[in-house]
Amino acid sequence: MYLARLQANWPVVAERIARSAERARRAGDVAVVVVTKGHPPAAVEAVRQLGIGPCGENRVQELEEKVQRVGRHAVEWHLVGHLQRNKVQRALPLFDLIQSIDSPRLARELSRQAEKSDVEVRGLVQVNTSGEATKGGFDPGEVVAAVGQIGELPRIRVLGLMTMAPLTRDAGVLHRTFCTARELFERCDRELASFEAKHLSMGMTNDYEIAVEEGSTMVRLGTALLGERET
Ligand SMILES: *Cc1c(COP(=O)(O)O)cnc(C)c1O
Repeated sequence: MYLARLQANWPVVAERIARSAERARRAGDVAVVVVTKGHPPAAVEAVRQLGIGPCGENRVQELEEKVQRVGRHAVEWHLVGHLQRNKVQRALPLFDLIQSIDSPRLARELSRQAEKSDVEVRGLVQVNTSGEATKGGFDPGEVVAAVGQIGELPRIRVLGLMTMAPLTRDAGVLHRTFCTARELFERCDRELASFEAKHLSMGMTNDYEIAVEEGSTMVRLGTALLGERET
């Protein structure tokens, strides 16, 4: 079922991404992370078969279950949700990229556990571009300094920024939100030696075309590809 669903949805989504990139006259090099949270391991299997890209999960327990079922290296795994510090140790072996470094304390704990396990953490720093209290991440005004500090921590590589836009149909608001994130990304790239400007992760089902127009290099799509979540 998931294979059929992806075979139907993926070409449509890929075409929309390509068109948005064209409108912005930029190269169409946009990675797609399939957000498989709320879907069974079969969804991950289908993503793997079609070779679409990494899979995104937001809960450690669910990530753990899926990794067990489909394999740690079947796909690249991204953690896209808030990670509690007391779960860092458990989560660390399970993901390839954490997109949601949202506080200095989490960054320090990731660094500490990575040192302990003799591994390296690859992560994106989350920016709260919408200013909503319910969303995590650093305020735009503190991002550059915070990214600089996190980049100095042992065993952490900051490979970019991630943001979530407010849930709105107002295209103007979405353009401004993503533009803010892109400007911060460019500033980090210019001003911080430790920053590796690889990924600007923005755009979800509701807003990915606008995000791509504003320079997203990585969209995170659940519903558009897999349909409504079951949980
Ligand atoms: C759930 C989630 C997504 C995917 O959302 P859709 O609207 O289903 O595309 C993307 N990013 C994050 C951080 C999420 O939590």
